[in-house]
Order: sequence, then structure tokens, then C-alpha cells
Amino acid sequence: MTVIDLRSDTVTQPTAGMRDAMACAPLGDDVYGEDPTVNTLESWLAERLGFAAALFVPTGTMSNLLGLMAHCERGDEYIVGQQAHTYKYEGGGAAVLGSIQPQPLDNQADGSVDLNQVVAAIKADDFHFARTRLLALENTMQGKVLSLDYLAAARKLTRDKGLALHLDGARLYNAAVKLGVDAREITQHFDSVSVCLSKGLGAPIGSVLCGSNELIAKARRLRKMVGGGMRQAGLLAAAGLYALEHQVERLADDHANAAFLAKGLTELGYEVEPVQTNMVYVQIGDRAEALKAFCAERGIVLSAASRLRMVTHLDVSAAQMEQVVAAFAEFASR
Ligand SMILES: *Cc1c(COP(=O)(O)O)cnc(C)c1O
Repeated sequence: MTVIDLRSDTVTQPTAGMRDAMACAPLGDDVYGEDPTVNTLESWLAERLGFAAALFVPTGTMSNLLGLMAHCERGDEYIVGQQAHTYKYEGGGAAVLGSIQPQPLDNQADGSVDLNQVVAAIKADDFHFARTRLLALENTMQGKVLSLDYLAAARKLTRDKGLALHLDGARLYNAAVKLGVDAREITQHFDSVSVCLSKGLGAPIGSVLCGSNELIAKARRLRKMVGGGMRQAGLLAAAGLYALEHQVERLADDHANAAFLAKGLTELGYEVEPVQTNMVYVQIGDRAEALKAFCAERGIVLSAASRLRMVTHLDVSAAQMEQVVAAFAEFASR
């Protein structure tokens, strides 16, 4: 039985071409700055996204942490969405390791943070308060794409108020593919961007933080401090480079598969949230554990949640989406 794993787009296996690229990659000690493949990945992505420099790191969590710590000093504050990965799903790292106070704000239905609320949350220069230094956005945000107009407005606001602007672009390329624009149209608005290679792009490990020379030099020191300095890391960077060169346009297939799945489930009477990219959210209610077990018997791996998230990726096909819809139909009829 082939497994259809819809828990996340992190579950993908390296493709044959990617494994070849990894096997052939020239390597060196990256802590000495001598891994040619890491250096190529960093300069390639920095240039493509319009930044002076970039830094290869093992995870998106580390990439965001280094970005926040490079922008903010101890006692500074960053404004962030209540549902943002940086705030909610990274163990509170910015506060724990960076002594950076988060100021969370509710996310709007479209995934954005209301800019009027951002303005209201910026603290005056007063020794009672933490120093508001940065706004962090996420795109895509739970599968939703922030509009380019919104990003431009966030850029203007942060510039006017003297804040830095960071993007958790774990799924930057899903957003770019959905909008039909070069990723640079998105990244041009930010001072720093974190990109995950290990999500829909299909690399096994790795993220890249992009920013100015000064910011990345600071992040490089911090990366060493948190134990993220890797040696012959080109083995992994090669997978990332391969993904960026060969597995970006195909994200459109994942989006089409997610749309197909959403349509099929809606027709069955399931309550499905509008789909923009590769994530489908369905209300399952109190039958989540039962559905998970039912699907597991049919080779379909799901999380158990009353608001169930299903994520499409390069290891699931359009034909398999029909199998998933069929399983949900059978489950609904029981
Ligand atoms: C996955 C993810 C990250 C980082 O995840 P790691 O598992 O640490 O690589 C950051 N932000 C978002 C939105 C993510 O989905």
C-alpha cells in the first residue's frame, strides 16, 4: 500500500535528481567559509531575492531566531501575529535565547496583522517600556497569501516608524507561485527573509536567512553560538540548490491538488475553508480521532484535529487526491 501522508509538506523524500546533486556536490568546511556548495546557495539565493547576503542554517526555527536576534537587542520588542510560527511554534526562542519581548497581535482572517493595531502597539520612547524594534510577518500564513499591497503598506509603516521588517517566508515560493510573480516582488519589502528549503521545495533539511551584509555577519556569529555552524554542509545545501532550480514551478501542482481536494470534500458536505495554496483546512469536529484511524487503515496519514489541516506536496499525486476524497465519502456515510 503506498502511503498518502497529508500531515505536512515536510514529509517529502529527496527526489532522484536531488540525491544525485547531493552525491556530487563539492564540499568543504563551512565554519571556515570553505564549502563551495553552501557559498553558492547563499550567494545564489541572496541575489535572486535582492539581498546582499544570506546564511544557510539547519532549520526555519533557527533562521527566524537568528533574524530576530540580529535585529533586536536584549530588552527590545518585536510585533508578531498571535498565530505566527515565530511566536507560537518556536518554543518562545526569541524571548528565551534573545531576551526579546514579543508583542503578539491577533491575525486577521486573511493571515495579515492589522496595521492600525501595529501602530497602536508601538511603544513610546520611555524607560518604562521595551523598545519596539521589529515587525515580523509570515507568508504564506496557514496557506494564505498576503497581498503585495499589504506588504507595501507594512514596508511604508515600518520605515515611517523606524522599525525593521522580517518575513518568515517558510513558504515564500508557494506565495510567489500563487501570485504568479517573481519571489523578489515579495521580498523587496523586507529587511530580512527566512526561506525553508525543507517544506514544499522538497529538500530534506535546511533554511536560508537573507539580509544585509551587516545583519548576516551578526547572524553568522549567532549561528555559531546556538550550535548551528555545520561543517561539510554542502551535502545539504546541494539539495536546497536543486530544489530552487527544479522544484519551484511544480508547487502549482500542489496548489491544484489542494483545490481539487477542497472541492471534493465540499461537495461531500464537509465544511472546508477557502484554499489558496497547498493547505486544506476542514472542520471535523469530535470525530477527528475516528477519521484519523479510518484513513490510516486506507494508507492515508492525517493529523487528528477538529480543524484538520491537510497539506499537499511533491510526494502526493492528483490521482491520490481522488482516493482521499473517496475515503472521506466512505467515512461520512458510516
Ligand atoms: C516550518 C516552519 C518554520 C520553521 O520550521 P523548522 O521545522 O524549524 O524548519 C517556520 N515558519 C513556518 C511558517 C513554518 O511553517
